[in-house]
Amino acid sequence: DEMQSYNLNDCVRTTLAMVNNQLKYICSVETHLGSIPHIMMNMGKISQVVTNLLINAGQAIESTGAQGTITITTRELDGYIELSVQDTGCGIEPSHLDKLFNPFFTTKPEGQGTGLGLSISFGIAQEHGGTLHASSKDGEGSCFTLCLPIHNPLD
Ligand code: ADP
Ligand code: MG
Repeated sequence: DEMQSYNLNDCVRTTLAMVNNQLKYICSVETHLGSIPHIMMNMGKISQVVTNLLINAGQAIESTGAQGTITITTRELDGYIELSVQDTGCGIEPSHLDKLFNPFFTTKPEGQGTGLGLSISFGIAQEHGGTLHASSKDGEGSCFTLCLPIHNPLD
């Protein structure tokens, strides 16, 4: 599995088809897939990032016990493409925001979370010359944003 020219929207669609069975009982999923160029990516690894973000979002919604929505958006910005996964889940404590990407950081019950998903995802973003960022506002769930340069400066 190596770097090839792909469209991130196809990666989102494929990944969603794989995790939809796990999400469909928990929440609805909305997609806003913008017009974005192909970029060089490791499709398997980027799919792993999208999977991690979707499963985390589903778990965050499930933990509230309420109906929820995941909104996936892609768009092109100046020199990079952006994927955001917004959820209406439990949100993130401000004091946790700078620890989320540390290996083994988890707030899930013993045996239910390895705390590795986001640290691995962060590494994959970096391998693509990109970034992965989390934000959360009180009572508004969370948003994770993956930015990938259209031309990887590491190539
Ligand atoms: P795990 O899912 O095994 O706990 P992750 O690295 O995927 O490990 O996530 C680390 C932690 O980040 C989670 O335990 C949770 O506290 C927080 N987190 C991740 N995604 C979300 C989200 N969408 N909403 C709220 N908290 C989140
Ligand atoms: Mg996780």
